[in-house]
Amino acid sequence: MDTPGSLSQEIYDVVGIGFGPSNLSLAVALEEQGASSAQHPVTSHFFERQPRFGWHRNMVLPSTTMQISFLKDLATFRNPQSRFSFISFLHASNRLVQFVNNQDFFPTRQEFHQYLEWAAAGLSDRVSYGTEVTAIRPVTEPGATTAGLLEVEARDAHGTVSVVTARNVAISTGLVPRLPQGVTSDERVWHSSEFLSRFNAQDPAGLKSVAVVGAGQSAAEITRFLHDKLPHAQVCAVIPSYGYSVADDTPFANQVFDPTAVDDYYYGTENAREAFWRYHRNTNYSVVDSDVIRALYQRVYDEQVSGAKRLDFRNLTRVAEVRRAGDLTRVVLRSLLDDSAEELAVDALVFATGYDSLDPARLLGGTDRYFLRDAAGRHRVERDYRLVSTPELSSGVYLQGGTEHSHGLSSSLLSNIAVRSGEVADSIVLRRTQRELDRPLSGDISPSVA
Ligand SMILES: Cc1cc2nc3c(=O)[nH]c(=O)nc-3n(C[C@H](O)[C@H](O)[C@H](O)COP(=O)(O)OP(=O)(O)OC[C@H]3O[C@@H](n4cnc5c(N)ncnc54)[C@H](O)[C@@H]3O)c2cc1C
Repeated sequence: MDTPGSLSQEIYDVVGIGFGPSNLSLAVALEEQGASSAQHPVTSHFFERQPRFGWHRNMVLPSTTMQISFLKDLATFRNPQSRFSFISFLHASNRLVQFVNNQDFFPTRQEFHQYLEWAAAGLSDRVSYGTEVTAIRPVTEPGATTAGLLEVEARDAHGTVSVVTARNVAISTGLVPRLPQGVTSDERVWHSSEFLSRFNAQDPAGLKSVAVVGAGQSAAEITRFLHDKLPHAQVCAVIPSYGYSVADDTPFANQVFDPTAVDDYYYGTENAREAFWRYHRNTNYSVVDSDVIRALYQRVYDEQVSGAKRLDFRNLTRVAEVRRAGDLTRVVLRSLLDDSAEELAVDALVFATGYDSLDPARLLGGTDRYFLRDAAGRHRVERDYRLVSTPELSSGVYLQGGTEHSHGLSSSLLSNIAVRSGEVADSIVLRRTQRELDRPLSGDISPSVA
């Protein structure tokens, strides 16, 4: 099953859209479900628009580390005996003993990427890489009163369009890079999500003055990287706050990422949910690991001592305007202290300005009208991560990501993916069993009701 064109005509129990860690973890959970009911395995297929597996490749910078324990891998919290655990990967890589000797809960991002690639390679028979899902449409089976199926339309790199049918889809398309309004990226103006490929396309000697905008982890890591890699360059860090704020990863605060915190958030009052964000936003959002903060401050201090200053922090400062002309980029900085403006000429400008969360409406298009929203206009989501739909639609659309409003702070993170994908897999199996008890399966389908 290498290309979407060769996909079978069968009706899949679930089609996954995106094959990042979330849906990879779902594939693992389904595989382990399948192992427990070999006679009647859950059938699945996944589409990934990247040509091969990749997890934020453009931010796999030297010495960057994971912000979660290695035990929060694709499977361990759901199934500590899984063959897809990080420990199994270390064992397969002949590194388990050395990893333990190293006494570090937080692997480098490079090593975690290797782990994810290794796990993805073990499940590659159910993934179409280089294939982007472009539409999802409901389908009603003959004699049925509700649309119990979904058509998933996908386009490969050659423009070939294929359509598969599924009883459920799992949308895990990830975060969406955010640039300030009016700014577009090009070969000199980059978002952090494209950082390494943009940087590697440049001649470093031509980068004599660079600026990094943002006060989060990616901004700090890129600032450190540029300072290391461009020893001849001026590096300017533009941050809206007075200084970087530290990420709170202490044990009590870390409980907000526990699997049980999802129930507390989901079933909690509005006040409780608001308290999660008010007190614990600093566990992940716009914050930086303390070792990176200290490393950067040490550099600033060393340059003060030596008198050779090339790392410049503009705090309480925002970007007001970006002007592009050929290789030159002029950025207008506005100080929040006195509203004064200053123009800076740079050879490269990096916006580490974060991401918007997954919005399923982008992909659902017209099909989104079957899904209910709350008073604030947000999608209503069941505890099992299924979008709440109108009675006309009985197929399931599951979200992995984009559920911060319903399921809490870990929604876009790795912390809970093992347990979450187990819950999604359980829900798919349970609903299949209920459906089979209600009526026999039919292989024929009729066109979309949309
Ligand atoms: C630099 C960086 C470091 C991070 N580090 C951590 C960390 O240490 N710990 C942590 O908990 N979280 C971390 N995060 C948060 C991050 O969201 C998760 O690590 C993780 O990527 C979530 O997995 P995902 O599968 O939901 O999304 P993604 O990893 O974004 O994967 C989504 C996939 O869907 C594909 N896709 C999108 N649209 C389509 C489509 N229409 N058709 C087909 N495929 C599509 C994309 O190509 C992508 O591969 C980090 C984020 C960044 C940016």
